[in-house]
Amino acid sequence: MPYTIDIAIPPDIAANPDSLRQAAAQALHLAEGDVGAVQLVRRSVDARRGKALLQLKLNVYESGEQPLNPPVRFDYKNVAGRPPVIIVGAGPAGLFAALRLLEKGLKPVILERGHDVRERKRDIAKLTRERTVNPNSNYCFGEGGAGAFSDGKLYTRSHKRGNVAHILQQLAQHGANPDILVDAHPHIGTDKLPGIVANIRETICGCGGEYHFGARITGIAVKNGAACGVTDERGARYEGVAVVLATGHSACDIYELFEAQKWTLEPKPFALGVRVEHPQALINEVQYHAKGYSPLLPAAAYSVAAQVQGRGVFSFCMCPGGIIVPAATAPGELVVNGMSNSQRSSPYANAGIVAQVNLADYARYEAFGALAGLRFRQEAERAAFAAGGAAQAAPAQRLTDFVDGRASSSLGKTSYIPGVTSAPLHALLPEFVSRSLRQAFREFGKKMRGYLTSEAMLLAVESRTSSPVRIPRDAQTLQHVQVANLYPCGEGAGYAGGITSSAVDGASCAERIAEKYQAVLRA
Ligand SMILES: Cc1cc2nc3c(=O)[nH]c(=O)nc-3n(C[C@H](O)[C@H](O)[C@H](O)COP(=O)(O)OP(=O)(O)OC[C@H]3O[C@@H](n4cnc5c(N)ncnc54)[C@H](O)[C@@H]3O)c2cc1C
Repeated sequence: MPYTIDIAIPPDIAANPDSLRQAAAQALHLAEGDVGAVQLVRRSVDARRGKALLQLKLNVYESGEQPLNPPVRFDYKNVAGRPPVIIVGAGPAGLFAALRLLEKGLKPVILERGHDVRERKRDIAKLTRERTVNPNSNYCFGEGGAGAFSDGKLYTRSHKRGNVAHILQQLAQHGANPDILVDAHPHIGTDKLPGIVANIRETICGCGGEYHFGARITGIAVKNGAACGVTDERGARYEGVAVVLATGHSACDIYELFEAQKWTLEPKPFALGVRVEHPQALINEVQYHAKGYSPLLPAAAYSVAAQVQGRGVFSFCMCPGGIIVPAATAPGELVVNGMSNSQRSSPYANAGIVAQVNLADYARYEAFGALAGLRFRQEAERAAFAAGGAAQAAPAQRLTDFVDGRASSSLGKTSYIPGVTSAPLHALLPEFVSRSLRQAFREFGKKMRGYLTSEAMLLAVESRTSSPVRIPRDAQTLQHVQVANLYPCGEGAGYAGGITSSAVDGASCAERIAEKYQAVLRA
């Protein structure tokens, strides 16, 4: 049996296997020759005490001992000819629902409005260069969903909702760097994600599952109160024993479909704000407390939060070494988000800084019922588009000008390729958002010296943080409260936020479907 130890060591020692073994031997008061294999179990950066160290959990084996490395195997079954389950949406929720169905012996039939991940790359290049938004294939829609061209951060707090390790192991099996299994804040990167998404497709199709691209679902068939299939906009019909609805929070048409059918929806709080971009070198200095930090350390991340008169303001989806991207899903909207490559090598650090939006904040849209928050969001996105002046150009302002409430006479460099236009974001954003953000930035500047700087740029609007609508479901069965066999899941249903929690939620829905199906067979 190995010894398990926790040590905090400089990154150059951690990077060298001999030095690492020496450090482990010292920690255990053993002679170096008595130490054999050293296995990394957990890794994080600890920069709290003025010097950035790597905090490692290690399994240390005595010389001659064989490391325990139980192989992780997934029992994906051949599901050709098995009962089909319809999955609408090939984002993390849909894909991990499909993988779990394979383990349970049911056949996933995936219907995706967008293109496969390879063709989607071309649509995204066109969006960036020509500034034209394809409403079915963009940063949010298409194979892999909103997670495919992202930072690929996999950190989640949703451990109670399902087996996060299972999700990470499946990602590693499909090509993610196995470091994600040990890093406290794992991430994959946009250069690697499309390959992993394509490998997952190969697994699903190789086991007899189906994929249909260009299949925008416009109807859900219900018989005797239970979902039994869907129709796409071309009129094709697909039948199944259950329907998993994993369409994400940008699929406004799905919420409108529910409204039209008079199926229950609920408005919910969400968050809205801006994306702030600093030089990465500045964030490294602030977080690692020194100019001469080790190049072996990852690009520094940060997370900030404040309460401003009872309203939460917080950082969201921070992308060290990343770029800001245009994440709108329809022409006439402007939405910003962030992504990074696996090395996090861009000279910029960006993060969403958003203020909580409560139901009362969008009460003036109450005529839209459960879709009120969606209309509020849409209005902010359209205002940002108009202020950008040219298609997908983002309205922007220097951080210090925003805080001081004056338009920027000049703008700094940004990573946002479609371009930026100077605009008074302090007046453009809804008043309560602007007021809360300005106060919160002052507080963040006190907590992180150097953060509140004119070098930092703000781009608007960061509006797709979480869903403004919930598709309510039964807490036990995970079926929609009104329509049996319909499983709203992931971010669009309002039960998850982020890649991993959406994947976990999709897998949980697949498990409930398999349990229900087994119970029907037994009856
Ligand atoms: C640029 C960017 C960067 C991000 N970075 C991160 C990150 O680093 N870490 C993180 O945890 N989260 C990140 N997110 C958020 C994360 O991607 C989402 O939380 C996650 O993808 C939600 O998963 P989902 O499966 O519920 O929905 P989605 O990923 O939104 O997938 C929904 C899928 O359904 C399809 N669809 C929609 N409507 C229909 C229809 N009518 N018919 C058929 N198909 C339909 C869409 O095309 C899409 O493929 C990022 C998002 C963006 C946009």
